[in-house]
Amino acid sequence: MNIYELDQTYVAGTYKRFPVEIVAGRGSLVMDEAGKEYIDMGSGIAVTSFGIADPVWIRAVEEQIHKVQHMSNLYYTEPCALLAEALCKKTGMSRVFFGNSGAEANECAIKVARKWAAENKGPDCSVIVTLENSFHGRTLTTLAATGQEHYHELFRPLTPGFAHFRAGDLEALKALCAGGNVAAVLIECIQGEGGVVPLDPGFASALDDFTRENNILLMVDEVQTGNGRTGKIYAYQHYGLHPDVVTTAKGLAGGLPLGACLMSEKVCHVLSYGDHGSTFGGNPVASAAALSVVNRLTDDFLAEVAEKGSLLREAFTGAPGIESVSGLGLMLGLKTVKPASEVVSACMENGVLCLTAKDKVRLLPALNIPNDLLRKAADVILAAAAQ
Ligand SMILES: *Cc1c(COP(=O)(O)O)cnc(C)c1O
Repeated sequence: MNIYELDQTYVAGTYKRFPVEIVAGRGSLVMDEAGKEYIDMGSGIAVTSFGIADPVWIRAVEEQIHKVQHMSNLYYTEPCALLAEALCKKTGMSRVFFGNSGAEANECAIKVARKWAAENKGPDCSVIVTLENSFHGRTLTTLAATGQEHYHELFRPLTPGFAHFRAGDLEALKALCAGGNVAAVLIECIQGEGGVVPLDPGFASALDDFTRENNILLMVDEVQTGNGRTGKIYAYQHYGLHPDVVTTAKGLAGGLPLGACLMSEKVCHVLSYGDHGSTFGGNPVASAAALSVVNRLTDDFLAEVAEKGSLLREAFTGAPGIESVSGLGLMLGLKTVKPASEVVSACMENGVLCLTAKDKVRLLPALNIPNDLLRKAADVILAAAAQ
């Protein structure tokens, strides 16, 4: 059997894969089994922050692999401590819990909210409110948090204690909170899987005020938007929000599994010994990789990310076949006249890998993609969208 047949026979059939096997890569270029080269405009869904086989990232991983590849959380390791410090210093948050994925980061946030509310607002205060069209993960609890019915259908009963409202509808949120049993509101600043839909800034600041005035936690899911993706370290900084909890994963370790739940001063002592844990969370190799990623997210670098985002945005805005452009920095959604999946297929044919999100073409290239590749990719996408 060839690789396609082996995979289709032995790997759980949860992914509808394109007929391409990726065998190698360098930066923002990847190569398939036939030697065809592609510009990677998806970076493993916002994961390979500095591209494939980035030399600085490899050095960080390699150095740590030769020291200690894993140690249980019963002992201290340097990369985990340094990474937590770096994340707190760059955000003003106070403490970090490490897991292995976005869903786990959100699970931690939900546990923090539930324990905090039980201790500070009463045992019945346990509801987490999220937005319609949101995406927060695939575990049964983060599915319950996800405000999209079609993800729920096959897997009931889900974890109880979640409610959803439409972004922008503050009155609906007020109604949900009227009973006094809402512990936290969990939002994405830009809904990623939901179709690259940014939050309205006026609504975001109203939400920030409302949660603070009503002693409800504001939790921001930055699993996709985080770690420099939008031109700030975290997207909530564009909106001037004051989150109590920030979760992230995807691009954090640049290609190794790592999730983080950042807690503000207000909630940083909620979890104590034995309340939560993870065997792999804070793994030294993943943490060393993440430290190298986070240390490279300087103000100058983030300004370059924003510039690359503008370059792309300008290329697409008003172009034939493009109805609209959404997103921030290097997280962009293109509403195309042709179906997004057709555009993505045509791009792949012509050597550019893109993603979709709902009815949009979604672009999440590496943060350091060279401008010439960015222009080349834009030309291919424009041609595919215009045909
Ligand atoms: C991808 C994603 C998740 C889930 O992350 P996993 O690492 O797949 O568990 C959660 N929230 C958002 C906003 C995401 O984009």
